[in-house]
Amino acid sequence: MKSTKPNSMKNIAVLCSGGDAPGMNAAVRAVVRYGIYHGLKVYGISRGYTGLLEGALEEMSLRSVANIIQRGGTIIKTNRCKAFFQKRTRAEAVHLLRRKHIDGLVVIGGDGSYAGAHLMAAENENFPVVCVPGTIDNDIYGSEYTIGFDTAVNTAVDAIDKIRDTATSHDRVFLVEVMGRTSAEIAARVGLSGGAESILIPDASGVVYSEKTVRKLVRSVLRSARQGKLSSIIVVCEGEKKDATYRLAKALKLKAKVEPRVAILGHVQRGGVPTAMDRTMASLMGAEAVQALLEGERDVAIGVTQGSISRILLKSILGKQKKPDLKMIRLTEILAS
Ligand code: ADP
Repeated sequence: MKSTKPNSMKNIAVLCSGGDAPGMNAAVRAVVRYGIYHGLKVYGISRGYTGLLEGALEEMSLRSVANIIQRGGTIIKTNRCKAFFQKRTRAEAVHLLRRKHIDGLVVIGGDGSYAGAHLMAAENENFPVVCVPGTIDNDIYGSEYTIGFDTAVNTAVDAIDKIRDTATSHDRVFLVEVMGRTSAEIAARVGLSGGAESILIPDASGVVYSEKTVRKLVRSVLRSARQGKLSSIIVVCEGEKKDATYRLAKALKLKAKVEPRVAILGHVQRGGVPTAMDRTMASLMGAEAVQALLEGERDVAIGVTQGSISRILLKSILGKQKKPDLKMIRLTEILAS
């Protein structure tokens, strides 16, 4: 266990924000227990930035986080908070934290939550904030991993294995939509490990069904048919537009003369028992967040760089986007032939 430098940090708080992700509980547990181990009082804030503004802080004990490492979701609840987009509201939040004698805050969430945390710190004399990547999408620039990704990928692959039974039995083409918004990370990993024929990702605008994408889809299905494969699994990244996958199915029916089926995996990917990978990463990153606060860091995010836990300045990653792994997508197609 790392020794800590002398530091004025006595009380810290932790909240979850944005979409829930399996492993958030393991991260909360790590923050609470690592903090208490190092002599801190740790407060849980319920319902993200909304709870923070309402002063919903409660001191956490070692026992309050017992038996949660294996549970999906988050016991301190998470939330989206429109008011936090206002500077005045973020100043109120820091004022409240100071009034409650909180010296540092750990925010577990995705890039939106990071943006809020960074603005809150930057606008308020660098109030110490450390972010932990908690999102199934694995879309945070500067980190190779986000908590929840592995569980979500495994859930989706499990679903694809089941869908494949029907696809093969009925000689069907299935379009399986996975989460990830405009990020291709889940789609690429699920496509490769699920043995998909093709992976469709959004173009730069976030619209999945561009003409180019439709042409690629039709080509893929016709090629499979020529090779005597009458069933196909096409993994589609959800993108920004609603109904994108249904529109793709329509286009496919028209141009490739097949009767595709659509399976939207949706929220099942966000829940469930976190995998050992997610529990491990959450434990490592939650503890590292507290360690960073103890060492006087502020306005940083915990991440993974070249396989190791790292600290990255929030200002250096916000507004940047991870590039899709086109090699993985291409390999999926090669291996499906
Ligand atoms: P995630 O953190 O999973 O990406 P969201 O994008 O919904 O989820 O963001 C979660 C919350 O973070 C928002 O409801 C809001 O309270 C805060 N937030 C997001 N973006 C900003 C921003 N640009 N400025 C201030 N707060 C933000």
